[in-house]
Amino acid sequence: AIMPWVIGNWKMNPETPTAQQQLTQQLIDHIAEHLASGAALVNLNLAVAPTLLHLLTVQQQLQQAKSAVQVIAQDVSRFAGTGAYTGDVSAQLLANAGIGMTLIGHSERRSLYGEDATVLREKLQAAINAGLKVVFCVGETLTEREAGQAEQVVLQQLDEVFDCIDLQHWQQNLMVAYEPVWAIGTGKTASPQDAESMHAAIRAGLKNYHSSLVDLPILYGGSVKPDNAASLAACANINGALVGGASLDADSFIKIARAF
Ligand code: 13P
Repeated sequence: AIMPWVIGNWKMNPETPTAQQQLTQQLIDHIAEHLASGAALVNLNLAVAPTLLHLLTVQQQLQQAKSAVQVIAQDVSRFAGTGAYTGDVSAQLLANAGIGMTLIGHSERRSLYGEDATVLREKLQAAINAGLKVVFCVGETLTEREAGQAEQVVLQQLDEVFDCIDLQHWQQNLMVAYEPVWAIGTGKTASPQDAESMHAAIRAGLKNYHSSLVDLPILYGGSVKPDNAASLAACANINGALVGGASLDADSFIKIARAF
């Protein structure tokens, strides 16, 4: 069985250092309550992705509480190592600071920052070379879905980066997050049937690259909430969730996590 991942993508939230600390503490407290009540959160990887500014303080706070929640970056520089890249943080700097994983290719990066296949290939290579694990995000727009091109677009997004890293790294360090753009922050979730059908197509695509990739975790993202998490978690090919808005409320986030 594939061990599920539930990841909170905090995006550019919450607003102050105090609020970051409170959210982290609420997460720690909610997990403790669930464990104390005998509820299991085992066989599950939990992670949060705070802003770059707060990665290390959130990580310290979780570590001091001996929490198993991992801290991951929302994005990474396309440039490797160190150097004159004003405003950027490289995979190597993240790794050296103890951050072991990053998102790459989130639809907001693709659409708001113009990140195309060339950039994403560089980011993937930089991350893998620095030893980071990667959640590679894919997803179609509403126009693409309505034109009947959803599957083709998503498989293309995998295809255009597939050969930039070794098979071995795909096996060991990659997972895929399917986030239909029209479901992000809109309150519209893909129906479990639509999500499952896309996840099955992604899995078939991965298997087509190499049979060993059939077990990569494929996470769903896009308006995942406590009340729809269970029906998504019940789908055979959905191995976790990438949660935006609902991850800013620790209680909701842990309810979602418990569904997986
Ligand atoms: P929402 O859960 O707010 O729709 O965001 C999804 C997302 O983009 C997570 O990366």
